Amino acid sequence: MSLKLFNTLSRSVEEFVPLDPAGRSVGLYCCGPTVYDFAHIGNWRTFVFSDLVRRFLEFRGFSVRHVMNITDVEDKIIRRVRETNTSLREFTARFERAFFEELKSLNCLPPHLTPRATEHINEIISLIEKLIARRLAYQAPDGSVYFSIEKYRNSGRSYGRLVRLNFEAMRPGQRVSNDEYEKEAVADFALWKRRVPEDGAVFWPSPWDEGRPGWHIECSAMSMKLLGPSFDLHLGGEDLAFPHHEDEIAQSEGADLQPPGQPFVKHWLHGAHLLVEGRKMSKSLGNYFTLRDLVAKGFSGREIRYLLLTAHYRETFNFTLDGLQAARQSLQRIDECLTKLREAARGAQAEPDASVVGRFSAALEDDLNVSAAWGGVFDWVRETNRRLAENSLDAVAAASALATWARMDSVLGVGAPPQIDVPPEIASLLQARQAARQARDFKRADALRAELKAKGWVIEDTPKGGRVKRG
Ligand code: AMP
Ligand code: ZN
Repeated sequence: MSLKLFNTLSRSVEEFVPLDPAGRSVGLYCCGPTVYDFAHIGNWRTFVFSDLVRRFLEFRGFSVRHVMNITDVEDKIIRRVRETNTSLREFTARFERAFFEELKSLNCLPPHLTPRATEHINEIISLIEKLIARRLAYQAPDGSVYFSIEKYRNSGRSYGRLVRLNFEAMRPGQRVSNDEYEKEAVADFALWKRRVPEDGAVFWPSPWDEGRPGWHIECSAMSMKLLGPSFDLHLGGEDLAFPHHEDEIAQSEGADLQPPGQPFVKHWLHGAHLLVEGRKMSKSLGNYFTLRDLVAKGFSGREIRYLLLTAHYRETFNFTLDGLQAARQSLQRIDECLTKLREAARGAQAEPDASVVGRFSAALEDDLNVSAAWGGVFDWVRETNRRLAENSLDAVAAASALATWARMDSVLGVGAPPQIDVPPEIASLLQARQAARQARDFKRADALRAELKAKGWVIEDTPKGGRVKRG
């Protein structure tokens, strides 16, 4: 089956065909974090979504080059640098470090390249120079350089393909220098912002005035440098479609670096937003969670990743703490099944079950239908448990089931339960309890069970004897 993905450009589900004539290499760009604070779980929904896309492409045999930029100069960052009286690098380094730690705790594969905007000022300047040479950009009397949407449209290109823009109802011709302008306004947006006193030490020399880049041009410059002027996939949260991605298209295609007939980006994917307890996430409502807030409540990165991956990426998803509890239970069901399989496999090796993996793959090939994929996983868990209960899985069949899970988990990334390291003291108490049972000294066996419980371990009796887990 071919891979089908919704493309925001055409507003339809399209077959995904890479630009690479060999059909193998795929360039994937995802707008990364603005490092002015800890990322919230809404941001994480988008980054986990981009990890799912990358992992599934790799599962399908594509060779992916995954780029995620770090926006480390931007309006909000500069404001905070001023407020905290630190240097730009000192300020952003803290949140950048936290971002990478959290990326790891959510088991996202590190993108191959994570360029920082501040390290691409030369590329940004040369892109702006090209736009000026093509008369699509101009330096205004305020010293900043703007992109002219009107000139771009007059050059025969269309602006507003990702979102349906009604130009009549808008106010074209104005200029805005803030990075995220009002959605109703179509304004010339800043490519280079002239230095103002509030910027402090955050500025670079340029052919125009000293200043700094606008947010939109950062992504155009870095994505085209690292993936070429025309690449396969561009991702972000739905709020980025306009103006950010629309402006990326205008800048990148305006510079006309693509081979004839090729677009800047072939396929645009946008992830829907995450709501919290049915409402928009906001600090004032107190429903604003960062990953560390949830970890402090005792949840693991694995549980949070699982929950973020349960809904289809184009559906708004409602995050609740109850949902996170339910995620924990679902993972426990998988873990229990895998623990039993490990015992039954006794180290044997075998190939995955092609039909189970095939159904899983077919679900995701259908515009990443993750709900259907999970449905298949839990049908498989139920069936495997049934066969384990009736003792009809030999070591090779159990090993094959473990390989089946490993294959599916290469996409899902929720992992397997850790092999529990039982301290020697606990292991010998368990052994003593087994011996007491065998000697039919049930009083002593119960006392040992109680002693283990007091130390935080519970015994599970299985047909093959007792085992302990943390209680
Ligand atoms: P930012 O750090 O603000 O540039 O955002 C990083 C990414 O998170 C962008 O792709 C946003 O579209 C995305 N994002 C922001 N809020 C949410 C949300 N509530 N749900 C899902 N994604 C979000
Ligand atoms: Zn971007």
